Amino acid sequence: MSTPQRRAARPRPAHKHRGHSKADCLKILRGLSAYLDDDLAGNVCREIRKHLGACPNCEVFLASLRQTITLCRHVEPPPLSPAAKIRLRGQILKAAGR
Ligand SMILES: [Zn+2]
Repeated sequence: MSTPQRRAARPRPAHKHRGHSKADCLKILRGLSAYLDDDLAGNVCREIRKHLGACPNCEVFLASLRQTITLCRHVEPPPLSPAAKIRLRGQILKAAGR
């Protein structure tokens, strides 16, 4: 064993997509943004669930988002302030890789 094997550092996609593309992620994350406005249609909800089944990235993101929202609702009933919505929306778009 004198020659250390060099592994070619292949650039691997950080996000393995099965059956959907990054564009789908964007769409889903935008849907989540609408969710913040209580403006989420039932069919969008189904689409998000379907996507989450195949996309760990979005699933993890939604889990933390949902937890945050649940915590907020537990503490105080009033909805998110416009500033908070804008901030969250920015985080969502950032998570979508924009
Ligand atoms: Zn996704």
